[in-house]
Amino acid sequence: MKKNMYINGEWVPAVNGQSRNIINPFNQEIIAEVPEGNEIDTQAAITSAKEAFENGEWRHTPAAERGKIVLKVAELIDRDQQELAELETLDSGKTLTESIDDMSDIAEVFRYYGGLADKDGGEVIEAPLPDSKSKVVREPVGVCGQITPWNYPLLQASWKLAPALAAGNTLVIKPSEITPLTTIKVVELIEEAGVPKGVANLVLGEGGKTGRLLAESHDVDLISFTGGVETGRKIMTAASGNFKKIALELGGKNPNIVFSDADFETAVDQAMNAVFFHAGQVCSAGARLLVQDTIHDGFVKALVERTKEIKLGNGFDDVTQSGPLISKEHREKVESYVELGIQEGAALMVGGKRPESKVLENGFFFEPTIFTNCTSSMRIVQEETFGPILTIETFSTEEQAVSLANDSKYGLAGAVWTNDISKAERVAGELRMGTVWINDFHPYFAQAPWGGYKSSGIGRELGKQGLEEYTEVKHVYENTNPQPLHWFT
Ligand code: NAD
Repeated sequence: MKKNMYINGEWVPAVNGQSRNIINPFNQEIIAEVPEGNEIDTQAAITSAKEAFENGEWRHTPAAERGKIVLKVAELIDRDQQELAELETLDSGKTLTESIDDMSDIAEVFRYYGGLADKDGGEVIEAPLPDSKSKVVREPVGVCGQITPWNYPLLQASWKLAPALAAGNTLVIKPSEITPLTTIKVVELIEEAGVPKGVANLVLGEGGKTGRLLAESHDVDLISFTGGVETGRKIMTAASGNFKKIALELGGKNPNIVFSDADFETAVDQAMNAVFFHAGQVCSAGARLLVQDTIHDGFVKALVERTKEIKLGNGFDDVTQSGPLISKEHREKVESYVELGIQEGAALMVGGKRPESKVLENGFFFEPTIFTNCTSSMRIVQEETFGPILTIETFSTEEQAVSLANDSKYGLAGAVWTNDISKAERVAGELRMGTVWINDFHPYFAQAPWGGYKSSGIGRELGKQGLEEYTEVKHVYENTNPQPLHWFT
C-alpha cells in the first residue's frame, strides 16, 4: 500500500521524495509506504489552510451546511467501518474488536459535532447603556494545527477534526509517524464528504520537523496536541511565538481506588481491564491501584491469578485479549520501568518479561505485569510507563485514599469503587482530575468533556467544551442612537 499527503486538495508525495515504511507491530512486516514530509511540506499545508480560511467559503458557509458535511463524514466512516478497523489493527496491533469499537465511537464524534454545529447562535446581552444592542457570537479561530499520538490514532484525530470543521476552521493534521494509516483514510472520507479544497490538509513525518513547525508558525492560530508531557512542553514554548490558542491532552497515572465494601468480583475484573486494555497504552489506564488494607491480600491474589490468563496474540485472532506494544523502542522503555520497580523495592508478582511463545517472537509483546509493596514515593508509581504495568498500594482510611490518589503531577482520570454512594461522591469531589468514574472505569463519550488537571493538560476535548475550544468569542456592540460627545469642544 502506497499513500500520499493531502495538501490544498491534492494527494502529493513529499517534496524531497522521501518516504517511510509503516510496520505491523505484531510481526514487523511492512504494511505501507508513506511520504516522509518535512518543514517545506508543512509550510505548504499551512499556506493552503491560511488561504482557505482567509479567502475560501468554509467559514462563511452556514453552520447547518457545515454540520451536514460533518454528518456525511460520520456516514462514510460507518460505511467503511470494517476497512478502517482492519487498518487500525494492522497499524497499532490492537484487537480488531477494540478497533471496531473505536470506529463506531469515531463516527459518533463526527455525528455529535455535525449536530452541534448550528446549535450555538450566540446570545443577546443586556448592555448597561441606553439605545444599544449587544450580542456575543462565536467565530472560528482560523488555521488549526493538530498533532496526534499512536495509541488511539483515529480516535484522537476525530476529537480534533470534527469540532474544528464544524466550527468553520481550516486545519493541518499531523498524525503520529508510526500510525498514520487511518488518519489518511479519514481525510479521504472528508474529501469525499465535500469539504472544500484547502480546508483540511494532512502532513506526514517526524514530529520534530512537521509538528514543530505547526507549533511555531505564526500563520497557525491554534495548536491542539495529544501526546507526551515532554513534547507538550516543547509545543507550549513554541506556541508562545504568536500566542496561539493551545489545547494539550497529555499523559496520566490514573488511580483506581477500591474500598472494601465494593463488589469484589466486579472490582477485580474491572481493575484488570482498567490497566491491561490495549496493553496499557492508554492515557487513562488505571495503572495505579489503591486497595483498602482489609481486602488487599485477597484482591491481589485474585488479580494475579486472572492476569496470568490474559491471552496475548494477533489482533486479528478472535481469542486475543491483548496485542503487542507499538514499537521496539517503546517495549525497551517499558522493560526499563520493570527494572526500576525492582530496584525501588516493589515486589514483582507476575509478568515483567517478554512472553516465551514462538508465535509472538516477532512482535513487540510484553507480559501483563503487577507490582505490590508500592509506595507513592517510587518512580514506578509516579511516572507514566504507558505499558502493561500495574502498581498496587494500600490504604486504610478514606482520607488516606484521597491523599494518595492526588499525590501525582498528573490529573487526567481516576475511579472509585464502593457500594457507599455518599462516600463515592465525597471522594469524587476531592479528586483533582478531569474525569472521575464511580463503580466503572474507562467510559468516555462524545457528549462529555475529556481533559486533564495539572500536568495532564490544558483545555478540553469532546462535549460542547470541545467545540468551544475551536471558537473565538466576539462581542458586537451597536449604538442605535449615536450622538456627538462634545468632549473635545
Ligand atoms: P509523543 O509526544 O511522542 O508524540 C505525539 C505526537 O507529537 C506525534 O505525532 C509526534 O510526531 C509529535 N511530536 C513529537 N515531537 C514533536 C515536536 N517537537 N513538536 C511537535 N510535535 C511533535 O507521544 P506518543 O508517544 O505518540 O503518545 C503517547 C503519549 O500520548 C502518552 O503520554 C499518552 O498519555 C498521551 N496521550 C494522551 C491522551 C489524552 O487524552 N490525554 C490520549 C492519548 C495519548
